[in-house]
Amino acid sequence: MLPKTAEVVVIGGGVMGASTAYHLAQRGVDVVLLEKAPSFGEASTGKCAGGVRHQFSTAVNIELSRESFKMMERFPEELEQDIGLRKIGYLFLLDNETDMAQFRKNVELQNSLGIGSVVLTPEELAARLPYLNLEGIVGGTFYDGDGLADPHSMVQGYIRGARRLGAKLLDSTPVTGIKMDGRKIIGVETPDGAIATETVVIAAGAWSGQIGEMMGINLPIVPLRRQIAVTRPLPALKSLDLTFILFFGESLYFHPEGEGILTGMSNQNETVGFNEMVDPKWTLTHIDHAINRFPLLEEAELLTEWAGLYEMTPDHQAILGRLPQVEGAVCVAGFSGHGFMHGPICGKLMAEEIVDGRAHTVNIDPLRYERFLAEGAEDISEFNVV
Ligand SMILES: Cc1cc2nc3c(=O)[nH]c(=O)nc-3n(C[C@H](O)[C@H](O)[C@H](O)COP(=O)(O)OP(=O)(O)OC[C@H]3O[C@@H](n4cnc5c(N)ncnc54)[C@H](O)[C@@H]3O)c2cc1C
Repeated sequence: MLPKTAEVVVIGGGVMGASTAYHLAQRGVDVVLLEKAPSFGEASTGKCAGGVRHQFSTAVNIELSRESFKMMERFPEELEQDIGLRKIGYLFLLDNETDMAQFRKNVELQNSLGIGSVVLTPEELAARLPYLNLEGIVGGTFYDGDGLADPHSMVQGYIRGARRLGAKLLDSTPVTGIKMDGRKIIGVETPDGAIATETVVIAAGAWSGQIGEMMGINLPIVPLRRQIAVTRPLPALKSLDLTFILFFGESLYFHPEGEGILTGMSNQNETVGFNEMVDPKWTLTHIDHAINRFPLLEEAELLTEWAGLYEMTPDHQAILGRLPQVEGAVCVAGFSGHGFMHGPICGKLMAEEIVDGRAHTVNIDPLRYERFLAEGAEDISEFNVV
C-alpha cells in the first residue's frame, strides 16, 4: 500500500536509489522508494559491466571510488550479502601519445591520492598480455586494486537492508508527477495515489531528465545506448591471468565472466534516445574489433547480448546534491556510464546531504548542479569514460 506521507521519497530503484534509501533509513529517516519497473535494479545498473576502478582523471571521482571500495569491502558483513568483489586489476591500453600524456597525468593524480596505479610500457604490456593483439598500442596504465563486482547483488543487498531498517520500497510504482507549491516540493504523484513529502531524491538514472521536467527544470541528463556481449565458456581462457582490459581508443573492453568473456564497445555515433534494442549492425562491428584484439575469441560462441543506457551529462560527471532551483530536490544521477562503482558512497553522501544539511565524507562541490550556472566555471570533464 502506498503510504500517504514520507519524510523523503526516492525516485528510482537502481543502485543509486537503493543505496540512498538504505543510508537514509540507517540515519532514522522515514523513507519511501518508488520504482516504476516490476523489479529493482533491472535498468542501467543490471545491464552494466560491473567494472570498479580508481583510475579516473578527476580528484573527486578518485575520492568517490576510494570511499566506495571501502564500503564494498565491508558490504558482506554489513549487509549480509556477497557482492562478488574481485580485485583482478584494470588495464587501460592507449593507442596515441596524446592519450598517453593524459593518462600519465591521471596516474600522477591517482598516486598523489594514495592509489598505486602504474604506467606500463609496450614491452611490459607484451610480456604480460601475450594473448592480445597490441598493434599500435603505445602504453597503458594499470591498478591491481581495481576489478569487478556484481551489480544485482549490490542492489538486492541495499534493498533488503533498507527494508530491515523500516524503509518502504515499492516496485511497479512510477512517479508520474511532482506536486509543487511555487518552487517548493510538496508531494509526488503515482497512478496509485499521492505521497505528501517535502524532499525528493532524483535517482532515476537515464530518466532523471523527465523527473526534472516534472519539477519544471532542465536537468541535463540524456540517455545513450551501450551494448554488451557475453561468450559461452572458452576452455582456452583457463590458463590466462585475465584482468579488466580496456582499449581506450576503440572504447572496447573485456573481462572474465564465468568461464567466458564479457565484452562491450561503445558506438561513438550513437544518438541520444531511450532505445534499448540490440543493434545487430553494431554487434558485427563490435565482434570484428573484439576478435582483432583478442584473437582467441574467434573460437567463442555468443551466449547472450543486451543493450542498456548510459545517463550522460555535458561533462560526463554526475550531478550530486540539492538542486538550487527547487526547494526539496536532491539529485544523485547522471553518472555517464561509471556510476555502479560509486553507488555505495553516493547513497551515503545523499543521506548526509539530507540529514546533516551537507554531504561531508567527500566534498561533492565540483559535482553540484551549480557548476552549470557559474560563468567561467572550471571545466571538470571526466576523461576516463568510454
Ligand atoms: C552497458 C553498460 C555498461 C556499464 N558498465 C559500467 C561499469 O563497468 N562500471 C560502472 O561503474 N558503471 C557502468 N555502467 C554505468 C552504470 O550502470 C550506471 O551509472 C548506474 O547503474 C546508474 O545507476 P542508477 O541507479 O542511477 O540508474 P538505474 O540503474 O538506471 O536506475 C534508475 C531507476 O529509476 C527508475 N525510474 C525511472 N523513471 C522513474 C519514474 N518516473 N518513477 C519510478 N522509477 C523510475 C528506472 O526504472 C530505474 O530502475 C554501465 C552502463 C551500461 C549501460
